[in-house]
Amino acid sequence: MKFYITTPIYYVNDIPHIGHSYTTIAADIMARWKRLNNFDVYFLTGTDEHGAKIAEAAKAKDKKPQELCDEMSTKFREAWKLLNISNDDFIRTTEQRHFIAVENIVQTLFDKGLIFKKKYEGMYCIGCERFFAKKDLDENGCCPFHKTKPILQSEENYFFKLSSFQDALLERITDVNHKEYIDIQPEERRNEIVGKLKLGLEDVSFSRSAIEWGIPLPFDKSQTVYVWVDALINYITAVGYPSDEPKFKKYCPTDVHLMAKDILWFHSVIWPAILMGAQLPLPKTIYSHGFFTLNGNKMSKSLGNVISPQELVENYGVDAARYLAVTLIPFGPDGDISWQGLTLKYNTDLANNLGNLISRTLKMTEKNFNLKIPQAVLNLELVKNVEKNLKETFAYNMDNLQLHKAAESLQDAITLVNVQIETDAPWKLAKTDKNKLAICIYSYLQAIDIIAMHLFSFMPSIAEKIWQITGASGNITDVAKKYFTNGMLPKDGFSVSGADLQIPGILFPRIF
Ligand SMILES: [Zn+2]
Repeated sequence: MKFYITTPIYYVNDIPHIGHSYTTIAADIMARWKRLNNFDVYFLTGTDEHGAKIAEAAKAKDKKPQELCDEMSTKFREAWKLLNISNDDFIRTTEQRHFIAVENIVQTLFDKGLIFKKKYEGMYCIGCERFFAKKDLDENGCCPFHKTKPILQSEENYFFKLSSFQDALLERITDVNHKEYIDIQPEERRNEIVGKLKLGLEDVSFSRSAIEWGIPLPFDKSQTVYVWVDALINYITAVGYPSDEPKFKKYCPTDVHLMAKDILWFHSVIWPAILMGAQLPLPKTIYSHGFFTLNGNKMSKSLGNVISPQELVENYGVDAARYLAVTLIPFGPDGDISWQGLTLKYNTDLANNLGNLISRTLKMTEKNFNLKIPQAVLNLELVKNVEKNLKETFAYNMDNLQLHKAAESLQDAITLVNVQIETDAPWKLAKTDKNKLAICIYSYLQAIDIIAMHLFSFMPSIAEKIWQITGASGNITDVAKKYFTNGMLPKDGFSVSGADLQIPGILFPRIF
């Protein structure tokens, strides 16, 4: 089975911040989870590099647009490397493979009579790279997002017959039994899209005449492809359209397009219409998450309260930064984050709950068994309870991108073992019943191993480290792939009797 997941390609007029990180970490967690479940995963991210905004920014810095794009695109690659993102591909819209794909698809739509020339006059916001209808501007006649006055522009452009796709889109978005059903998530936003679709669709501009920093239309080189259209096409370029048919057949359609809510319309209406026009497979799920505020304030460059991936990592370490970023607020709706909130969650979930479980288990083994995993039978009940907790909720929530809930069930499983330790009171058993103590410790270790395998998608390096600390045998991902397929504990357990444990130092130092 294959699984193709994408983040949006990020516009290079901005440096990577927590918004980009949030989407990318979520996609990475999903990709890693699917790989552990034996899917052949293709995980794509990249940068969007054309348009007037880039050309202007480059000019202001006395650079060539390509030079600026190279610099900025590198910053995104570096950020994803820092956050241990496991993307299989990183696409840039200035790459040759993308030019070929864009030319090909635009020509196909033109040949099918879906693109036509029309004179257009409208209010254009450079910040948004789009035209606004008068009714969509604010009371001062300004762009509602940038609060700047758009410029009146009159152009003869090529338009795409979006209006002719209204019924076809409605069917595919609302009928779950349609063979090309597009599942737009969360439901409230799907309803908004459906509501807007029912009001009717206008044809959209597909090209610009005055903007040189773009991909020329193959049938009229005096115009370039509208940057939004150019950007959307990246999703098929990366999987081999139009030249690598085996790759394209293997990974298309897209299983999940992930993005923030502000670009949901482009992905759930314009993009499927383009694909339908070119008779290409439609995405299966389009998932948009909310915006977040920091301490109740909108994050913006001008307010100087933008959180960078570097800051997150400096404060919590890579793995904890990944975990905290996607679990602090529910995935989907808008939410508010704060440094206090992040630190509190770090201390509660990681330092106290998980960190404590591991350190007390190690200490007991050190004290009573000289850091060797004791020979014992398994407390099957404990392991079954941990598994039950994870099986019922974790997988379901992961598959539905409810990452905060999946993390909750992980925490519940950790708590369950911590509570079991309180009940068993191994410090008493050490004096009265060494055999029973051995059973306890051996069983805690197996439970920790199961927890580590589930934690892996969120915190890959820490999960691997835990795997080593507990003396578990084999490579964590290889073992997890088997375990997630057959659901069976190896005969001798993951951590095998006689193996040595390691004292790692403090995994999650408490943060004050
Ligand atoms: Zn704007």
